[in-house]
Amino acid sequence: MATKQLMAKIERFKKTLESERQLLIADLAMALHAVDSTEVQRVLQKLKTLSCDEIVDALADEESQEVNRILNRLRAVDASLAQTELGLYGFCADCEKSIETDMLQRDATTQRCYACDQIHKHVIKNNKRILL
Ligand SMILES: [Zn+2]
Repeated sequence: MATKQLMAKIERFKKTLESERQLLIADLAMALHAVDSTEVQRVLQKLKTLSCDEIVDALADEESQEVNRILNRLRAVDASLAQTELGLYGFCADCEKSIETDMLQRDATTQRCYACDQIHKHVIKNNKRILL
């Protein structure tokens, strides 16, 4: 793929990731409103000024499943955004080839190409057997 096209593709996914991050922060704010804790309410007040790492740190003790689900996703989105800055976005973590566009469209935080993803899923499924 020509470099120009590749850059445009990465730019598109970067926008997707940025809007997902905004949505996640909004979801997180909603979920935190429901938590009855002064500490959490303090985090909530400065949510928009905190980096992803700071948010994850500040809410490390939070046990709400919903909050943790959002934080996990936020971490994945933030890591992918960092990769777009470093020019590492869209490459498979295992084989280093470009990840198929439709894989990225399904989930913009995907870290593996189709082939490696299949192997990875297979390994997880059979992990027990392989370890034994
Ligand atoms: Zn791969």
